This record gives sequence, C-alpha cells and structure tokens, in this order.
Amino acid sequence: MTNVQTKKVEELKGGFKGEIVLPSDGAYDSARKIWNAMIDKRPAVIARCATTSDVVRGVNFARDNGLVLAVRGGGHNIAGNAICDGGVVVDLSKMKAARVDPAARRVTIEGGATLGDLDAATQAHGLATPTGINSTTGIAGLTLGGGFGWLSRKYGMTVDNLESAEVVTAAGEVVRASATEHPDLFWALRGGGGNFGVVTRFEFRLHPVGPNVLSGLIVYPISEAKSVLQQYREFCAKAPEDLTVWTVLRPAPPLPFLPERTHGKEMIALALIYVGDPKQGEPLIQPLRKFGTPLGEHVGVQPFVAWQQAFDPLLTAGARNYWKSHNFSALPDGLLDAAVAYVGKLPSPQCEIFFGAIGGATTRPAPDSAAYPHRDAQFVMNFHGRWENPADDTRCISWARDFFNATAPFASGGAYVNFLTADEGDRVRSAYGPNYARLAQVKRKYDPNNLFRMNQNIAPA
Ligand SMILES: Cc1cc2nc3c(=O)[nH]c(=O)nc-3n(C[C@H](O)[C@H](O)[C@H](O)COP(=O)(O)OP(=O)(O)OC[C@H]3O[C@@H](n4cnc5c(N)ncnc54)[C@H](O)[C@@H]3O)c2cc1C
Repeated sequence: MTNVQTKKVEELKGGFKGEIVLPSDGAYDSARKIWNAMIDKRPAVIARCATTSDVVRGVNFARDNGLVLAVRGGGHNIAGNAICDGGVVVDLSKMKAARVDPAARRVTIEGGATLGDLDAATQAHGLATPTGINSTTGIAGLTLGGGFGWLSRKYGMTVDNLESAEVVTAAGEVVRASATEHPDLFWALRGGGGNFGVVTRFEFRLHPVGPNVLSGLIVYPISEAKSVLQQYREFCAKAPEDLTVWTVLRPAPPLPFLPERTHGKEMIALALIYVGDPKQGEPLIQPLRKFGTPLGEHVGVQPFVAWQQAFDPLLTAGARNYWKSHNFSALPDGLLDAAVAYVGKLPSPQCEIFFGAIGGATTRPAPDSAAYPHRDAQFVMNFHGRWENPADDTRCISWARDFFNATAPFASGGAYVNFLTADEGDRVRSAYGPNYARLAQVKRKYDPNNLFRMNQNIAPA
C-alpha cells in the first residue's frame, strides 16, 4: 500500500464502528476466507461493517480511491466474488440483526445474516419465508439472485416475498426500494444480484410454517435410480404445492438408518417436506416408499429449523468446489440416463447431483415481474463438484463440465445466476433472458461507472 493509501485507510478507520482488517493484521487470513476453498484472493482492505454508515464509508472509500470493490454477505457464492485481489471488501457478515413483526407477518433482517439467522428469528413465531437448503448461506446473495428452497413450491421464490430493501448506492446514498419507492431499483434487486448497490436491510413477508413439519429422506439403491427418477417425475407432476420432493444422487453418507454395507456406495435419496398438517401429509408421501426397494428411510415430524439444516453436514465450508447447473421444464429419459451414467463416474466421494423441484408458486409471476425471469423452471439441476485435494482440480472440474455438456440438450436454456461459476460470465445474458436490457438501463441509472462489478456483471446500458 502506498503512503497516500495508508493515510486514507487511517481516515476510513475514523468513525468506523466495525473493524478494518489489513494484510498485516492477525485476523487477515481468516477474514479473507470464504466458503469455497478454491478462492484465494488478497484484498488490500477488509471493512467489516457494523452499521449502514460503515457500509457507506466503505463504498465511498473504494469509489473515491479508484479501488475494486467486493461485497460480502454470507460468503457462499461459488464464483468467489465476495472477495477481491488488491481492493476493498465491504463485509457485512457481522450485520445480522433481525426484527419480526408477528402480527404484520414481516421480518426485517440485516444484509450479513445467514438463512439460519433468519429461520431462528422467524420460527420463534411459527413463521418463515422461502430460502435455500443450507443454513449457512447468506440471505443477501441468495435473495438478490432469486432464491429457492423447501418452501418455494408453496410460497414462491425468495424475491417473490421481498417487500423492501435498504440500499447503499454507488454514490454512497442510502435509499429504500419497494413497489412504491425506487420501483425500478426494487425490480432489479429481485434477481439482478449485487449489481445495483449494497443491501443493508431486507424486509420479507412471512407465512405460517411448522414449527414442526413432516420431512426426511427415503433412500434407494443406485441400481433402481432410473426407475425411481421416472416415478419421481410422474409424482412431482401431480404433487400438491404443500409437498416438495428433491432427489440427490451421491455416495451414501454413514447415516445410522442405512445398512453399513451401503455407506460410501452410490445411492439415490428422495428428500421431502410437507408444509402443512403432518397428518394430511403422511398419506401423500406413501407412494414415495413404493418406488422400489428402499435401503432405508428417516422420515418423521421434526422442527422446520432442523430440516433447514439437514444438509449442512454435507456442505461445510473449506472444500474445493466447482458447480454447474441447468434449469429444466421437464425431465426426459435421456436426461435421467445421463444423470445415472455420471453418478457412476463421480471423481470424488463428495460430488453429487441434485434435482430440485420448484415449479408451483414460483411459476405464477410473469417473467418480467422481477429481474429473476425463469418462471418456466420446474426443476433446477445442480451438480456439486466438491473435493479436498488441489491435485484433483482438473479431474473434478472436467466431470462437472462434461456432465453439463451431456445434459445441455435437455435444458430449458436459462441459468440460475446464483449457481454460475467464475468462468461463466458468458451465461449472464441467458441468466436474464429478455430482462437483460431493462437491467442494463437500471444499472446505468444507479451504477453508471460499474463500481459494483465483482458479481455476475450486468454492464451499464
Ligand atoms: C452450500 C450451498 C447451498 C446453496 N443452496 C442454495 C439453495 O438451496 N437455493 C438457492 O437459491 N441458492 C443456493 N445456493 C446459492 C446461493 O444462493 C449463492 O451462492 C448466493 O450468492 C450466496 O449468497 P451469500 O450472501 O452467502 O454469498 P456472497 O458470496 O457473500 O455474495 C454473493 C454475491 O452477492 C452479492 N452480495 C452479497 N451480499 C450483498 C449485499 N448485502 N448487498 C448487495 N450485494 C451483495 C455480491 O455481488 C456477491 O458477490 C447455495 C450455495 C451454496 C454454496
């Protein structure tokens, strides 16, 4: 850092309520780590913000000094844009406060909160809003890209439940975006990623959920995978929106309800949740037990917050990750064959293939009602290339890319922006489809110089 920059950093520290972490500080190495261990970047300044004013200071500091600016929410994004080389990280991970208004069924939550923080606050009142399936994911990045999870078939995408947002713009102004205030910005935030400003506070609508829900896993041997997937496809077509079933193909973890001989062997699991009275859900899930000869099951009534964390042990921070994803409006046989073939050649025991069923309420808004456009997506397939040893990088990345190419002919063409990797900038246009041009206009209005460019970038029109 030059003397001039050192002087500026001292100015930044003045009045900053959070913590400024510099390369010379002991906390630096842990502060620059994010969920995906493949990302190894060295920012000049990490501004761990405590307040909206801190965020304003961080944004102004980066802009006025011509430095690259990265914004960190939960730090989960695979592409690693939460961190940058040489620039400033505006890190919101200490800003997690939540306030629930149970009567109005609303929550306001700060931009560094995780899904677990949100669930803990809202489930205390038996309320929830749709988010994702791993509780350590950041609410900010997830929401800004669209957001879907176990409640989405019933209550829509996360963005469909966003009421308002407090945003620090590239000019360092604090504005509120909602249907009536800065409506163009509000439209763009609902899927347009971190392109338009730093969201310091989100306000979501809430719905009665649980607090106990019927949920769990039914596991079949991989030899039955094709038939299970075919029956799954038929089942999902008729399932009520209260019921969501996803499938996971991967080596079996050492779960106590599975015979020991199956541990580490490929299997297909049905992961289910019924978001209603468990007694009404029980007969509806019965057919799922008859898709073949299950290896075991672990299904019961458990706290919704526990189900929201059920996959956390498989998705811990610190592994190397390279993911690919497609959207599908249907699951044709050729796609199922490819999935079965590729689970037969997993390059590491942590790799897995997920079919997430969305559809339902996510399909009802018009594609141009918010920046997130994929209202025809019935399924999102995500393949998690995940491993520990850098020596396996090429092999594992190739597996994900080959599977991506093999399944592309069946995909609906759209891409979910939150699952794009660092090398997929060319998919940003297809991620937004017909909404891209309008997004570029809003970008020009709120960030004409592209200060917020550490993201799946939308260039100003
Ligand atoms: C294990 C795992 C499970 C996942 N499961 C799901 C799932 O079930 N459903 C789903 O929809 N997605 C899921 N995702 C994808 C997830 O939504 C994205 O990775 C998302 O970007 C993570 O948000 P974050 O805040 O943790 O990430 P970060 O890496 O901190 O941020 C991602 C990007 O968002 C922007 N950003 C972050 N915070 C802010 C802010 N406060 N204001 C403005 N911009 C900001 C920045 O551009 C940043 O580069 C999953 C990801 C992982 C790794």
